[in-house]
Amino acid sequence: MPSPLIPTRLFGIIGHPLGHSLSPLLHNWGFGHFGLPGVYMAWPVEVGRVADFMTAVRLLGIEGVSVTIPHKAAVMEYVDGMTDRARAVGAVNTLFWQGGRLWGENTDVAGFVAPLREMGDVPGTALVLGGGGAARAAVAGLAELGVPEIVVSNRTEAKARELARDFGVGVVDWERRGERAGGLVVNATPLGMLGKNEGQSPLPPGALGPGSVAYDLVYNPHETAFLRDAATAGARMIPGLSMFFGQAVEQFRIWTGCELPRVEGMALLRKALYGEGV
Ligand code: NAP
Repeated sequence: MPSPLIPTRLFGIIGHPLGHSLSPLLHNWGFGHFGLPGVYMAWPVEVGRVADFMTAVRLLGIEGVSVTIPHKAAVMEYVDGMTDRARAVGAVNTLFWQGGRLWGENTDVAGFVAPLREMGDVPGTALVLGGGGAARAAVAGLAELGVPEIVVSNRTEAKARELARDFGVGVVDWERRGERAGGLVVNATPLGMLGKNEGQSPLPPGALGPGSVAYDLVYNPHETAFLRDAATAGARMIPGLSMFFGQAVEQFRIWTGCELPRVEGMALLRKALYGEGV
């Protein structure tokens, strides 16, 4: 007897380039883990082809999409609605259907907040380094957590000022950022990342202290210069893979209602990225 056909639900990620994305590995593992009939694909979409892709989402019945660089702002004009978080950040990283309408959400905010909630005891002051999309998600998350004093600092000050104005937070001169590193410090720049920025820290040496919490959004390599400095200073550390996992957990929950298990999911990512547990 042939087995009855089970309709497969179609999901995927768009971005350009997409070679390094861990999302297909994690979401396809999730479908298998829960025995769900879903498949998650990688769709490299060039700048200028987003409108065509969004037409395909509607025509092909694509049920959910992760959106990454450089399309997080471009997809916004093609959705039927946006969540408050996506609107506040000014970027969409997740597409989903609700009531026959295509919605845009930003799960980077939930992903950013998750490890801070887990840690508890979040410092009352926060310095966010960077002025791009990740910095905006971090400031939105810190505002949601109710951190009383949030300041941003960016190499290009105009961008820091714009971010600060949008969220009603303070600005610190890039040259003086080291003086404000006594609480939570978020690295939302690519400094430290594998490649040309590897080995660089976003803070001057000696800026972190034992009361600091160093939250590095960079997750490759595993041990960045910023986190090494934090360990030396006796500061607490949050590695960037936690945020990556958290934003994917939120996407999977929106699409399926299921919660990706943390221990196995993080182990899968660590093995793929760092070869741990091989
Ligand atoms: P983005 O929009 O391109 O912004 C990058 C920011 O970093 C800009 O404000 C830029 O300053 C600053 N910057 C770049 N090179 C710098 C340098 N050499 N010195 C000082 N500042 C520099 O990028 P993004 O999307 O916000 O991402 C930022 C980082 O977060 C990336 O490393 C990304 O991989 C990471 N990230 C991680 C997650 C996660 O899940 N863990 C999620 C999103 C992003 P200017 O304004 O002066 O150019």
